[in-house]
Amino acid sequence: MNRDMIYLGGRWVASSSAETIAVENPATEEILGRVPAGTAEDVDRAVAAARAAFDGWAATPMAERGAFLGRLHEALAARAGDIARTVGLELGTPLKIARAVQTGLPLTVLRGYADLAAQPAAEETINNSLVVREPVGVVGAITPWNYPLHQVVAKVAAALAAGCTVVLKPSELTPLVAYLLVDAADEIGLPAGVLNLVPGTGPVVGAAIAAHPHVDMVSFTGSTATGRAISHAAADRIARVALELGGKSANVILEDADVTKAVKVGVANAFLNSGQTCAAWTRMLVHRAHYDAAVELAASAAAGYLAGDPFDETTRLGPLVSAAQRDRVRGFIARAEARLVAGGAPVPEKGYFVAPTIFADVDPDSELAQEEIFGPVLSIIAFSDDDEAVRIANNSRYGLAGGVWGEPGRARAVASRMRTGAVDINGGAFNPLAPFGGYKQSGFGREFGVHGLNEFQQTKAIQQ
Ligand code: NAD
Repeated sequence: MNRDMIYLGGRWVASSSAETIAVENPATEEILGRVPAGTAEDVDRAVAAARAAFDGWAATPMAERGAFLGRLHEALAARAGDIARTVGLELGTPLKIARAVQTGLPLTVLRGYADLAAQPAAEETINNSLVVREPVGVVGAITPWNYPLHQVVAKVAAALAAGCTVVLKPSELTPLVAYLLVDAADEIGLPAGVLNLVPGTGPVVGAAIAAHPHVDMVSFTGSTATGRAISHAAADRIARVALELGGKSANVILEDADVTKAVKVGVANAFLNSGQTCAAWTRMLVHRAHYDAAVELAASAAAGYLAGDPFDETTRLGPLVSAAQRDRVRGFIARAEARLVAGGAPVPEKGYFVAPTIFADVDPDSELAQEEIFGPVLSIIAFSDDDEAVRIANNSRYGLAGGVWGEPGRARAVASRMRTGAVDINGGAFNPLAPFGGYKQSGFGREFGVHGLNEFQQTKAIQQ
């Protein structure tokens, strides 16, 4: 593997520029390594390679593409230890979560696409029409740093299964783990040009991909602001865009909920990956009958999230990804006008740590309740009845995920009124085959499973 190279046309080659990007370990503030700062010219070459590979890959039977994904899964699984270590180093994810989530989830998703492609869907007919699905074309995949392999695999596996070819630009903050995927693809002999890697910054490489005339679709995960810029760039040539953006999800604890469990799971959800999770339940909405008890339970749960070395097996809270992110999160905490019920616990001096923080009595219209903080900060808000709970939950420009706890029928009724792409009832487990994506400013398009596959396909009607 050549972390000083870019990958295109099935080969590791030099970038057109000698400039590099330093990758920092956020737990130690040390430089871990460097990757090329790719250029618009690199993007041109990568898109040309993807274009040249497209016809052959699109014509490869889907089951055969699935077999490639199966081999890619095996090669990636053989790197599981490396993946967890790399994400632990470049993102600071505690080892346990790095193994279970940052490594386990992408492997499950990749396996899922291999299986899906191995059994292509039955032909669809409508009267005299045969409806067929065809690959969109060359896909530009632009991904963020918080689940650096998972978000890459969600796009690459679905696009490849569909018959698209890909130019991948991972986040400049966490580009290293993507090299492990591309290394695995190279090892299994994925046809040249099917997957290409150009690391670099958003304004240079990301913008060049978004605006490239031969990129047929841009699949983006990241902030709402960048999603907007990408939409503008793609609009000029009417290129398809899929956007997985931010969130400010509500965890609604109804009057008849198992409050102890709801709070415990709710706090864990909010603090997962140091709160750097787009679908995190960052607003806990609690019925007044249980409000004081819930606040107390949440505060004592927060005390269990000890911040420390991600490579210490007992650590539950790693650092934030960068100094900028830490300062941004600290700014939200400093400006907050609510009752602090957990916060200020000691954190390591070196590294970009923020102590687990919980505010109660949060005004639903305040910055704390409206802005995506992307750190270990939870806001607790009281409500009096189900209608008010729904109103507060939907009082957000985002609509990505959420939770509801209570008698299943009643919880289901509340869930169906929430304007979000996903809702978990009574801790319903995450399903990596279920569609995932946003309402409102959380974006559009769906990832995972068959819905994720369809995202990378065109639909054609053949009348006969
Ligand atoms: P970001 O928008 O800053 O960056 C995401 C990616 O876009 C990076 O690769 C970056 O280099 C690139 N980029 C930046 N500017 C660009 C431009 N002008 N043109 C093209 N590409 C550009 O986001 P981030 O800080 O890396 O990630 C955090 C955000 O991502 C949060 O808001 C979070 O909610 C969101 N997110 C959403 C999901 C989801 O599935 N909905 C998942 C994870 C993260």
